[in-house]
Amino acid sequence: MPGTELFGEEERKEVNDVMQTGILMRYTSDSLRNNHWKAREFETEVKKITAAGYAHAVSSGSAAIATALAVAGIGAGDEVIVPPFTFIASVEAVLFVGAIPVFAEIDETLCLSAEGIKKAVGPKTKAVCLVHMCGGMAEMDSIMAVCNSNKLVLVEDAGQAFAASYKGKMVGLFGKCGSYSFDFFKIATAGEGGVLVTDDERTYKLAEAYSDHGHDHIGGNRGMEQHEIVGFNYRISELNAAVGLAQTRKVPMIVEKNRVNKKFLINALNRTPGISFSRIPDPGGDSATFLNLFLPDTETAGRLVNELNNAGIGGFNYWFKNMYHFINQWDHLKSMHTASKLTVQLLDTAQDYKNLHLPKSQEVIGRLISFGIRCTWTEKELAELAAKISACVSKALKPVAV
Ligand SMILES: *Cc1c(COP(=O)(O)O)cnc(C)c1O
Repeated sequence: MPGTELFGEEERKEVNDVMQTGILMRYTSDSLRNNHWKAREFETEVKKITAAGYAHAVSSGSAAIATALAVAGIGAGDEVIVPPFTFIASVEAVLFVGAIPVFAEIDETLCLSAEGIKKAVGPKTKAVCLVHMCGGMAEMDSIMAVCNSNKLVLVEDAGQAFAASYKGKMVGLFGKCGSYSFDFFKIATAGEGGVLVTDDERTYKLAEAYSDHGHDHIGGNRGMEQHEIVGFNYRISELNAAVGLAQTRKVPMIVEKNRVNKKFLINALNRTPGISFSRIPDPGGDSATFLNLFLPDTETAGRLVNELNNAGIGGFNYWFKNMYHFINQWDHLKSMHTASKLTVQLLDTAQDYKNLHLPKSQEVIGRLISFGIRCTWTEKELAELAAKISACVSKALKPVAV
């Protein structure tokens, strides 16, 4: 969790600015805020890193992807292609805007593949919610081609890929709009927060209004502002934005350190039999928040998990068994256990979520183990970790007969 490793004076200073004026809201009170606009500065910082035309901060990454879908025109009854490996927020967001998730295959990039998307397209498919997983990125050339030839709206959930790029362009900016998360586990954190980015001014204006009850934010009298569309409250507070601002300023340095540390581990593990790495379409654009290892098969990966646990090595994820990142554990979704009825439950056109056939995704995630990269690791710590992982892999490859 690189962002949280580096909490310091900078975060405290930005938060104190807000506490000194007491204006915890991003809008209003212009004369009382001592010219502190933390949400705006946070957005400016995100624009600096991504080169996005527009950035809009909201209360979470989940709120950002929900807003992104809505302002991209995705709504009731629209079919949206989603991956079975993601943080579940992307799928929840599709459901909560009233749309219908259609699961498609991922590949060794850990993201939806163009081939997977192509196979899942049907007459009612409106959009693709592409999720850039584990700090890396999807294969954008072929995915853009498939979206364009099928006239699909592309919305990117780059929740865990802030600062990752593909051929010089930041992920999140390939489609109509994209989102980043700044929750506690991401490369930079606001405590809770998310940012929507787009190069389209109209989309930005809609997002700004949608996330604040429709407010157009024109004129100095909040109660008298105009409202073109119906919205909701997804606002970020100035306190969260203050932390997000200080953290985002550290991201270029974090990425640099992450890349060095990840390279060290890859070099050290490269020749360990049985290990390969996830495919990164543009290795130079990796945000390097995760080292993603493939084992030969699901059984070996399962044994490696046990070996790592026995050796007391933490800081890794076996997503195949994770309750929130892989579809196998989403019984609540498959059985549609919802607090109240969703659009998808009114229609009989949805995929049969209980009987999905996604063999490629099962195979890829079954043999994947991801280590979170720490930006503060020393060379000694890195060498020790690599040696321990290597020893555990050797044991996992040669199971003792019982
Ligand atoms: C973290 C994450 C989110 C949600 O972010 P929150 O800020 O926790 O709401 C959405 N999508 C992906 C892919 C994520 O990793």
